[in-house]
Amino acid sequence: MDFISQADPEVGAAIKEEFARQRRNIELIASENLVSEAVMVAMGSCLTNKYAEGYPGKRYYGGCYAVDIAEEIARKRACELFGAKFANVQPHSGANANLAAFMALVKPGDTVLGMSLAHGGHLSHGSPVNISGKYFNIVSYELDAESETINYDTVLAMAKEHQPKMIIAGASAYPRAIDFAKFRAIADEVGAYLMVDMAHIAGLVAAGEHQNPMEYAHVVTSTTHKTLRGPRGGLILCNDEDIYKKVNSAVFPGSQGGPLMHIIAAKAVCFGEALKPEFKAYGHQTVLNAKVLADALVKEGFRLVSGGTDNHLMLVDVRNFNITGKEIEHRLDEVYITVNKNSIPNDPEKPFVTSGIRVGVPAVTARGFVEEDMVEIAALMGMVARDFEGTADEVRARVTALCDKYPLYV
Ligand code: PLP
Repeated sequence: MDFISQADPEVGAAIKEEFARQRRNIELIASENLVSEAVMVAMGSCLTNKYAEGYPGKRYYGGCYAVDIAEEIARKRACELFGAKFANVQPHSGANANLAAFMALVKPGDTVLGMSLAHGGHLSHGSPVNISGKYFNIVSYELDAESETINYDTVLAMAKEHQPKMIIAGASAYPRAIDFAKFRAIADEVGAYLMVDMAHIAGLVAAGEHQNPMEYAHVVTSTTHKTLRGPRGGLILCNDEDIYKKVNSAVFPGSQGGPLMHIIAAKAVCFGEALKPEFKAYGHQTVLNAKVLADALVKEGFRLVSGGTDNHLMLVDVRNFNITGKEIEHRLDEVYITVNKNSIPNDPEKPFVTSGIRVGVPAVTARGFVEEDMVEIAALMGMVARDFEGTADEVRARVTALCDKYPLYV
């Protein structure tokens, strides 16, 4: 960091400021995590200098023998980690991976059934403002009004009615386990492909804490930077060679140019870490922490969508305190706790205001937080919701004490 500051004081100062924020704050954004030093250094390596359009052994540039090794390691480890036959590690992001999966499996105008964005799905699953919603005929399933969970009978009925070519399972703000076997049975019943976007839960799948979608889906997409603790990037897995060929051409040359070889090397490091026994322990602690935090938040008076969590996140309805998601996000920011406002199912507020927040524990778990710390976090969030003005100083001091207990990147 000092090196950057010497070379470019302005950018160096911004990076230092962000580092200070990460050290000072309790990070509860469910899609974020903390990578290892090895992953970070790989991202900052000389591999960023290399053009390598194509795939290992079949590139459009010379001098690719070393980056070929890195990409082969990444592909091999990704397959081992998730029990897949084939892996494409080139997508620059989760959204890119999803676009390539669409291009591989369906044609513009085809009907695709995915989870509604307002009920926890992702933009790239067919939102009208995303390319997926503009080029494909999207039908969206919502959560069951009572249980606030996926109603597989409803999904089946919609699949029968709309006859989609592809069904998408996976979400950005869904706190419950997803039954991929049921999704595959529905897809088979209507002759559709099943695409699973496991971006949020990839680390839990790798750790054996969630059903593995590889056993059921035609194509699995993911990000590598959420629960998986890798660099920002995407990943596509499948077991069928014909689909793999289509996926490869959908990524390059279909929707991307040169791969980010430094990121691919960092993905390889991340997959290597996730194959180690320590990662199983991390995944287990993540789920445990989430459950303890969920229970403690309920005791503090918050309502949780669906009543709890099976994974790394929870969706918290803050209306019991007569505040909005936007307001509590702001209050928590002021006391060094970072969350994001999030619509709850059938939210009466606009998406920029919302009635809820999404709270996730991957980053704090990576930092070392355990169950007792979750109880403290819930207590602090309760204080902020009940009496912000009266408690802000005390909450800030207690956040600092907690963060000091688990120093970051020492
Ligand atoms: N898929 C899901 C389920 C996500 O939650 C996200 C991001 O939050 C993405 C895809 C997109 O990933 P990226 O931001 O890397 O494009």
